[in-house]
Amino acid sequence: MTTVPMPSTARYWRLPALTIGLFLVLIATLVGLTRHYDQEEQQATLVSDVLWMEQNLHFHLERVESQLALLADDLFKGQRPAAQVDARLRQILSPESALRRVYWLDAEGVVQGMHPPTDDRTPGASPRPSDTAFLLARSTGRPVYGPPTTFRDGKAGFEVQVPYFGDSGFRGVAVGYYDFEDLLAREIPWWFSERYRVRALGQDGQEIAAKSKVAPLASQLEYQIPFDPPGHGLRLQVTAYRGETRWIPILLMASMVVLAGIIIWSLLQLRRHVARRQATEQALRDAMAFRKAMEDSLVTGLRARDLEGRITYVNPAFCRMTGYEAEELVGRDPPMPYWDPEDPPSLEEREQQILSGEIATSGVERRLIRKNGDHIDALVLDAPLIDAEGRHTGWMGSVLDITEEKRMRDFARQQEERLQATARLVTMGEMASTLAHELNQPLAAISSYSAGCLNHLERQDADPAELKGILAKLSKQAQRAGQIIKGIHDFVRRSEPKRERIDINALLREAVALVEPDARKHLVRIEADLPDGLPPVAADRGMVEQVLVNLIRNGMDAMRDTPASQRHLQVTTRLIGEQVAIEVADRGCGIPPEAAQRLFQPFFTTKAEGMGMGLNICRSIAELHRGKLGFEPRPGGGTIFTFSLPAEAP
Ligand code: ADP
Repeated sequence: MTTVPMPSTARYWRLPALTIGLFLVLIATLVGLTRHYDQEEQQATLVSDVLWMEQNLHFHLERVESQLALLADDLFKGQRPAAQVDARLRQILSPESALRRVYWLDAEGVVQGMHPPTDDRTPGASPRPSDTAFLLARSTGRPVYGPPTTFRDGKAGFEVQVPYFGDSGFRGVAVGYYDFEDLLAREIPWWFSERYRVRALGQDGQEIAAKSKVAPLASQLEYQIPFDPPGHGLRLQVTAYRGETRWIPILLMASMVVLAGIIIWSLLQLRRHVARRQATEQALRDAMAFRKAMEDSLVTGLRARDLEGRITYVNPAFCRMTGYEAEELVGRDPPMPYWDPEDPPSLEEREQQILSGEIATSGVERRLIRKNGDHIDALVLDAPLIDAEGRHTGWMGSVLDITEEKRMRDFARQQEERLQATARLVTMGEMASTLAHELNQPLAAISSYSAGCLNHLERQDADPAELKGILAKLSKQAQRAGQIIKGIHDFVRRSEPKRERIDINALLREAVALVEPDARKHLVRIEADLPDGLPPVAADRGMVEQVLVNLIRNGMDAMRDTPASQRHLQVTTRLIGEQVAIEVADRGCGIPPEAAQRLFQPFFTTKAEGMGMGLNICRSIAELHRGKLGFEPRPGGGTIFTFSLPAEAP
């Protein structure tokens, strides 16, 4: 596995960040524009409202002008009943007109009368109507407004002089004094004053009169127009009260801002999450790389199988060992290509038992076949594969190549055997010479005693008593020779058996394992049929093993000339009556009748390197254990040796 370098994530975030930025700018622009349009609209409303108000004031002033003109007509035309003039005065000074006081002046500008006669409504600063206005009214013949003035009670006002022309020309003026505040109060309708504060400002900008509710003002929304008439630099200043809050756009904007905030927040969260995830992935990659490096550098082959025995994983060492590529092995069902077709069936059984979990696994030696046909010896250890949830998902096998080790072991064993054979030969030689030496004497004596007897018989002077004595001595010598041979036999038999309870199947497996390497070398397949439930036997483990090994070796030796495909050695145990019988059946050359008679005799052998003591000792061992050793020809060729021992109570 190669570690792929991760591209920097910064550029992945550039686009969303840019989009969010743009989105925010757009929202800000939208908010700004909306506010702007809102203000413009309010401004436009303000202007049109102010123009309307101005118009309204004009109408009022004009109406009052015409009423003053009518009053002048009543006053100057003469002969009008005083009641009519009074009625006109009352009408003109009614609260609707906003006039506080009325004067009338003759053509010379002399005050002819006033109403009400005198009180605090008399203008303070200029106790009489303005001369300038008078002259102007007289000369223009049109109503003329005077400058602002203050009443005695401190209230502001202004005058209007309406000229009157009779048939004989100019007759005088009717002068009306407006109460500024009253005018504004009456002529500005309630809805207007709800929205705006109206102030009348003098020439120098000071407030003269106002109509207002006390409230904070939206200072930006203000509009001024000249108040003409009356003119004289008077202006009307209209300021909007804080406009009513338009909730819908504000809510809309607020929700957009909140949404944008949420989006930014979730993006940041996402980014943190991705960063954490990347860190975890990196850690995982590192761990994987480390594990991979570890697996690659292992010399032990690893292969994992699922519960059906299908290969799910092999490491490079295993591939090197078997010569197959991982792709060729992973996913394969048994039998595996590297299995030896000559594996004994017991191995396959064992394999099945491991897979079904019947036996606790321990190492087993197997011969594997590499892809190129070479053989390797391997030690295979299987262990259950348990996943993170604790489930048993398969088997993990570690495979050690022990070919070299095994070769060394075989070599050492052969050396040992050779050494032992040599030692045996030496002992044999020694024994033979001892035998020759020991036997020489009794044999010479027997020979001379028998020659003496013969002489006596030939000469026919044999005294029966003498002959009897000679023959008795001869027999004694023969007995001695027999004694010598028995001594050697006893030496070979060595010792008394040490009995213990033995599971004969287990012992047989061990014996098979002992000869297995040789069997493989000579391409002999050993098949063991060992039924369960056999009773134990009481025997000397070493001796019985010696017999079993001897019988198996003899069987293998007998098959030297048998074609390799038929070199099967069948080992079977079974209970016959009260005897546990072990049968070793080969497909060898068989035993010819002349050999059959001498088979168990000491030193009978047909092999160049043989000693001829094997079967003899085996039979002695069998007899020592109150058992039997026999043989019979095997149907279809070969021999069956049967070794039986008395069964013990289980
Ligand atoms: P050794 O193996 O040293 O020859 P044994 O006493 O074991 O001594 O065997 C004696 C002889 O019996 C062998 O040399 C062989 O000729 C013969 N023999 C033993 N077992 C078999 C067998 N299974 N098939 C044929 N011949 C056998």
